[in-house]
Amino acid sequence: MDGCFSKNERLVKPAILESSVESFIIEGTCTSGEDTMLKAEDYEHFRDLLHKVETRIRGDYEHLTDEALENFGDSRSPQHLAELGTDAYEREFSLRFAESDQHVLEEIQAALGRIEDGTYGLCEDCLAAGKSNAKSVIPKTRLKEIPYARHCVSCERERESREAG
Ligand SMILES: [Zn+2]
Repeated sequence: MDGCFSKNERLVKPAILESSVESFIIEGTCTSGEDTMLKAEDYEHFRDLLHKVETRIRGDYEHLTDEALENFGDSRSPQHLAELGTDAYEREFSLRFAESDQHVLEEIQAALGRIEDGTYGLCEDCLAAGKSNAKSVIPKTRLKEIPYARHCVSCERERESREAG
């Protein structure tokens, strides 16, 4: 389902979204304006999905951060100093990974807030451009890939190309 998310989103997409969350199947297109508004039961599904992803990332995040800090701990004996290069690399890698997870966790919180307000699943940029709610709907196929998405895929790609340019 490559058409459902942007390049940058793919990079930070949590691994859990690739596999173990197939609790519900959604079919259809990723193009905005062609899907129906979310119903109460869809809100329930996405709330569950967001909570599941959040729990999973929190577990991984704590594990990685602990490990990263341990690698540089004071208790390390002198004969291990030769390995420092590798450890520094691993620490850097783990912390960077944790950073993108941290970003996803913030986005998940924001998405849960939008579920509460009833604005979940609407593209912020489409709305800002004056489109109706019905025309700003982020298709469910995309929300299943990126349940914390704020924008439809075309607005997201536009943002990325503006940032890149
Ligand atoms: Zn949009």
